[in-house]
Amino acid sequence: MTIFKQSPFANDAYTIGWICALPVEFAAARGMMDEDHGEPQTPPAGADSNSYFLGSMGKFKIVVACLPLHQPGSPPAVAAAKEMLFTFPKIRIGLLVGIGAGIPDIDNELDIRLGDVVVGSSPQSGGVIVYDFGKIRDGSFESLSVLNRPPKSLGTALGKLQALHESRENMVPHYVEEMLVKHPVMRKNYTHPGQSSDRLFQANYRHVSGPRNCNKCEASQIVEREPRPDEDPVIHYGTIASGSMVVRDAAIRDELRDRHGAICLEMEAAGLMNNFPCVVVRGISDYGDSHKNDRWQRFAAAAAAGCAKELMQQIQINALDGEPAAKDLVYQGQFRV
Ligand SMILES: [Zn+2]
Repeated sequence: MTIFKQSPFANDAYTIGWICALPVEFAAARGMMDEDHGEPQTPPAGADSNSYFLGSMGKFKIVVACLPLHQPGSPPAVAAAKEMLFTFPKIRIGLLVGIGAGIPDIDNELDIRLGDVVVGSSPQSGGVIVYDFGKIRDGSFESLSVLNRPPKSLGTALGKLQALHESRENMVPHYVEEMLVKHPVMRKNYTHPGQSSDRLFQANYRHVSGPRNCNKCEASQIVEREPRPDEDPVIHYGTIASGSMVVRDAAIRDELRDRHGAICLEMEAAGLMNNFPCVVVRGISDYGDSHKNDRWQRFAAAAAAGCAKELMQQIQINALDGEPAAKDLVYQGQFRV
């Protein structure tokens, strides 16, 4: 039974916008909230097609918006952000939180595993680059573009988070467990699937047709990696490559890594970074190759939401006051489109 619950706070009390593309990401965001505020006090206008959930994490009131079902990708994400800023005009910063594909680089000791988290952050690119899938197939990457940097308050918080993790473990396992205790029904699907189901195949070995679970794929083609001592997600900071199509090709994946330093692939950030002052947080659910399946999606979504929650703890409340309203930035054209 669903009970309608309306937020006790006016729409303009919310200052952080959190965007998800998939229902499993929306569920993880909702599960991570410290307080559940329910639906917006003032319903969105008819033209606003987002699903919303309102809540709080620590000192911040947060709007979570989910893209319309089966419409992932950059244009729907940009539309969702713009609609959200109309309905919640005091939002100052945003987070794009969900799943993505990891690009390991074992030879160079970049050991990204399923369930790890990548945060878009790079001194050269602001953390996200856009690539054109068609151009990649032609062997040309000339259309790559660099996007806006995350807003200052988030940039400062990212620095603080990295510094903290020099001296202590990240809080992701703690926040995921807290979510599972609070929402026991999620335990079945949102727990770590186990290291034995994290299989990275050699880049030149293609998936054997049949079940998506790789049961017919050759175990001898699995890249050998040292088991980790625990199942705790590791947070990586680096360049996220954003494109218009799902990558299921290890050659394209590795090309983006080798030529542009990308460590993660996703589909929503292109466009959004130039239309919304935000940072991108991706839980790794596959390796962007022909073996890609959905097995890790829920845990990866939970890990990303946990990382976003820890990031938010590092934002000073007065730093947010110093940020202009995102709506003003976007609609005054201060963002490059
Ligand atoms: Zn396979």
